[in-house]
Amino acid sequence: MRTLLIYPEFPKTFWSYEKILELVNRKVLLPPLGMVTVAALLPQHWEMKLVDRNVREVTEAEWAWAELVVISGMIVQKADMAVQIARAKQRGLPVAVGGPFASSTPDAPELDLADFKVLDEGEITLPLFIEAIERGEQGGRFSANGDKPDVTGTPIPRFDLLELDAYDSMSVQFSRGCPFQCEFCDIIVLYGRKPRTKTPEQLVAELQRLYDLGWRRAIFLVDDNFIGNKRNAKLLLPAIKEWQIERGYPFSFTTEASVDLASDEEMMRMMAEARFEAVFLGIETPDEASLSVAGKHQNTRSSLEESVDRITSYGIRVMAGFIIGFDGEQTGAGDRIVRFVSRTGIPAAMMGMLQALPNTGLWHRLEKEGRLIQEKADAKGVNQTNLLNFIPTRPIRDIANEYVDAFCRLYEPNAYIDRVTHYYGKVGVPRWKAFFKPENSDKSALPEARDIKALATVIWRQGFKRNTRFRFWRSLARVARRNPANFEQFVVTLAHNEHFQEYRAVVTREIEEQLACLPPEPPSTPAEPSRELQPV
Ligand code: SF4
Repeated sequence: MRTLLIYPEFPKTFWSYEKILELVNRKVLLPPLGMVTVAALLPQHWEMKLVDRNVREVTEAEWAWAELVVISGMIVQKADMAVQIARAKQRGLPVAVGGPFASSTPDAPELDLADFKVLDEGEITLPLFIEAIERGEQGGRFSANGDKPDVTGTPIPRFDLLELDAYDSMSVQFSRGCPFQCEFCDIIVLYGRKPRTKTPEQLVAELQRLYDLGWRRAIFLVDDNFIGNKRNAKLLLPAIKEWQIERGYPFSFTTEASVDLASDEEMMRMMAEARFEAVFLGIETPDEASLSVAGKHQNTRSSLEESVDRITSYGIRVMAGFIIGFDGEQTGAGDRIVRFVSRTGIPAAMMGMLQALPNTGLWHRLEKEGRLIQEKADAKGVNQTNLLNFIPTRPIRDIANEYVDAFCRLYEPNAYIDRVTHYYGKVGVPRWKAFFKPENSDKSALPEARDIKALATVIWRQGFKRNTRFRFWRSLARVARRNPANFEQFVVTLAHNEHFQEYRAVVTREIEEQLACLPPEPPSTPAEPSRELQPV
């Protein structure tokens, strides 16, 4: 079976980092790990080609070659998903869809033309799909009916199908699921609250496969909460460390974890020694009342600021997500986030307005309260420039304006340099370097010409061309003197300013456009939803 796997296009988001990718001549930040996992689960005698639409278009020759089209994506990709399904159907090809969007909303109109809906986790439903294909069936819907697969049997993803040079980082996954119960989170809906992990041997074999394919750059461990199963994470980390030492630490890792990482000294030490260089934390808000409303009680158990500082002291840089628009939120939430981020110094602080994702606790509650705005819930999906898709408890304009103001202040170019400089005063010495044996490393890990060219461009723009020049050189001198072990990473973090400059304008423009279309709202009434906007 000649199978064409298509990964739909993403809209521009906080994480798309186009300007940075342009500098280093890469197309996309991360590869479609789900697609290469699906490819590994399909019969290996099937011929397969993969096209990531974020990298390039599907060619006519590829459409002509295909006998079956497989498309998978997230909610933010649904517009292009619909386009690709339609293109395949125009050519008379059978189409199978799967992934988070299809699994959470299998009856979405974007998926109407698909012949097969392969829902939930592929380890369970792909075998059912394959049997149906082998029986010659023309369509079907396959669901796991609430079952969650044991991922210890999941094969190594078909990384060989990727155009590796197009990606800035590679992805691997160790665990699925999270033990917590944040009301807005769809991870626990899709993957459950009992984290399931691969074995250390499995994960190390995936790293080895990437290494054998010539990969020598960063790896994103895409677990939603890497420490969801602490015991198993602690079994994995020494195996990664040993593998890294033997090969001269070719990979740096980034992952996502819950804030309680800060209370586990052993975990932070092990991560730092395995060369985990950054971690994304869902901090959401410094407002305790909002955290409680969202069911994010784990973030209220200790000081969030101290947690950030503790993780940072291990040489693991903190990235964090923030949300505005929780029920009962008081005026000034955006300002409180700015002050929190400025105090902690977190360089990459992602912000967004709260969105109710399908089938989450938040979605069901708002539906019951008649507060979901269906046309928005069904619109272009979820990204950092979407207004809330429900009626909030204070005027939506107040929330949106606070959000734009906070985002623009956080990423004002000079403020960003100051914050990053402040942060790098606290980043601990990278502990993995104590185990690094230069004789084990290979030349392919050295910086490439494109990286050196990118660095020169950043120095030219921020150090000469713009009004950031004074701060830029002063900050470089300060970090070089006070924290030389992290100097290289500091320069990379400064380079991200290139992306945020453009993204500030995107956020402002897109939100202003949406606000202009809203009907008038009454003034703020903290406890009551703003009823001017009509629910479904
Ligand atoms: S900690 Fe993160 S992954 Fe876990 S339930 Fe909360 S938002 Fe979801």
